[in-house]
Amino acid sequence: MSETSQMANENWIKRWGTDWVLEGCASCNGVFVLPPEKVSQRCPFCGQATLAQMDPSDDRPVYTQPPEMVVPFRAQEATLRQSVSQFAKSVWLAPTDLQANNLLGRLQPVYLPMWLVDAQVQGNWQAEMGFDYEIVSHREQYRNSNWETERVKETRVRWEPRLGRLNRAHHNQATPALEQQDEVEAKIGRFQTKEPKPFHPGDLTGAIVHLPNRPPDDAWNDAVLLLQTAVAQECRQASEADHTRGFKWSPSFSNQHWTQLLLPLYTSYYLDDDNQAQMVLVHGQTGKLRGVKRASLKRARRVAGIILAVAAVFLLITLVLLGLGFTVAEDALAWAGLVGVLTIGVGGTAVLPLLYAWYINNVASRE
Ligand SMILES: [Zn+2]
Repeated sequence: MSETSQMANENWIKRWGTDWVLEGCASCNGVFVLPPEKVSQRCPFCGQATLAQMDPSDDRPVYTQPPEMVVPFRAQEATLRQSVSQFAKSVWLAPTDLQANNLLGRLQPVYLPMWLVDAQVQGNWQAEMGFDYEIVSHREQYRNSNWETERVKETRVRWEPRLGRLNRAHHNQATPALEQQDEVEAKIGRFQTKEPKPFHPGDLTGAIVHLPNRPPDDAWNDAVLLLQTAVAQECRQASEADHTRGFKWSPSFSNQHWTQLLLPLYTSYYLDDDNQAQMVLVHGQTGKLRGVKRASLKRARRVAGIILAVAAVFLLITLVLLGLGFTVAEDALAWAGLVGVLTIGVGGTAVLPLLYAWYINNVASRE
């Protein structure tokens, strides 16, 4: 670790504003900033049973660049309750711990990081700029036994080559700071980052912050592509053009400055048959929920047992009726056949709860 980053790490607590603790998860590789009362609980991101306390000067890189902007939590409590109870009801033969109240009680606000990078951009650019213009033509049409003239307007684009030199500062280009960002957004939908507000330490009350696990060097490649798009649009606006194509530039960048944008997520979990935590994620803006579904094999076996017991009673009745049919009352044989069919029908359904639990735990959970 370089001297400067070590110094930066020693100062990190001051920048975050309060007496925070750093902990890491060995399972998902997450590093978290936690308020003291949340220390050494379950990993809020993957559900692993314990987190290990970390020192900011550890060998493992810890990106404690300060938060600059925050996207506030704004999902309504009623929406959260509804999402959670719908999920809890959606699993038949659910583990006993999968209940709406448990999920709501364990709901934890977690901020996910995005990088915000400032940079000074210099260089030459060239592109073709497109300008809309209208042409008006007249079309003759024979209608109602008369020739009528119709004016037709058509928009065309005139392309002109342009070039220039730019030198300007770009602020707060956002790029993902978490390896799992795409995975999370594929589950619960994208975060709306258009209107973030400036960060205040008070935003972190009761919340846990997931620090970046994607080095700025990696994120920088994405940032350059996004900057290129932004610069191309700016050049188009400066040229007062309507379109642009074939944008090329030879940029050089300086004064990169990295801060964080925090995105709002709720996480919760329930314990399955094996006491493993199964995670539930809820979008902090929309309340959209996605959770891992697990059925309880124990409950499936119990239900199958009850069905088999009922089938056994029917089997007994069938045997008694058969006995009667061959000895005293011939009519009983017809009844024995009927109850026998019922026995097979009921007994056959005993596999359904087992099949369902197997399907949920092995097939549906992989989707
Ligand atoms: Zn974890």
